[in-house]
Amino acid sequence: MPKHFSAFLAMIVLLCAAQAYAQQDFSKVEIKAEKVTGNVYMLQGSGGNIGVSVGSDGILIVDDQFAPLADKVKAALKALGEGKLKFVLNTHWHGDHTGGNVVFGPEAPIIAHDNVRKRLAVEQRSEVFKRIVPASPKEALPVITFGQSLSVHFNGEEIRVIHFPQGHTDGDSVIFFTGSNVVHMGDDFFAGRFPFVDLESGGTVEGLAKNIGEILGKLPPGAKLIPGHGPISTADDLKLYHRMLVETTDIVRKKMAAGKLMAQIKTEGLPEEWKLWGTGFIKTDVWIETIHRSLAKK
Ligand SMILES: [Zn+2]
Repeated sequence: MPKHFSAFLAMIVLLCAAQAYAQQDFSKVEIKAEKVTGNVYMLQGSGGNIGVSVGSDGILIVDDQFAPLADKVKAALKALGEGKLKFVLNTHWHGDHTGGNVVFGPEAPIIAHDNVRKRLAVEQRSEVFKRIVPASPKEALPVITFGQSLSVHFNGEEIRVIHFPQGHTDGDSVIFFTGSNVVHMGDDFFAGRFPFVDLESGGTVEGLAKNIGEILGKLPPGAKLIPGHGPISTADDLKLYHRMLVETTDIVRKKMAAGKLMAQIKTEGLPEEWKLWGTGFIKTDVWIETIHRSLAKK
């Protein structure tokens, strides 16, 4: 095995630990609800942040974490409003965002980008993760899919679902709650930390930076952001994240062009400014390795 893969594999072990929900103890996980603004709430438990629209039409959720948490999610939704669950949106296919589909799918139609259904419908084999994600059962699959965008008119506002290609995966959607002025970013946005970019699912580091640049151009003033992971954020937080993506990618690109090898680039690290960004899920050397692999793939 190439030496430079060791850190990457160390991350894989971490990720696998985080995603191996079959073995994870969910009994201690609490679902916390926080009002974002307008009709929209955010639920945090284990896995990706859940966005919720609550109002006279009922309930719509964006992502649904892991199946074993579904009862707790249901209890948290009930505490927000008595309405029925009417729609489930998936921002992308990863299990920490779609694991609850198997429970919520029979209750309400699941909506997602075409590639989310395609990936969930068949076994996903990950070389870097050394793991296999089995195909989802029929009831967990999106029943309404789209290529570019789709709108749900619900609880007095247009909820616009827009696909951004090749960022975190090849099936990412960002959800604009146009009346409440809230945007659920899915895993295109890891707030204040280096992101996981799933190169094997069609994600690319440069695509992600491009998408975030475009989203920044579409954000209405004062919008509140729900990241895939991390706390409720603002446009300024997203701008900083965008600058991090662009600048760290430039650094690695220039070093690669100068003929430096991965090990050397990792040893040299990244500017002090981004030090805290590597203290979470994706460490600095794993982020450098992700950029390197993404650029080398082109
Ligand atoms: Zn993800």
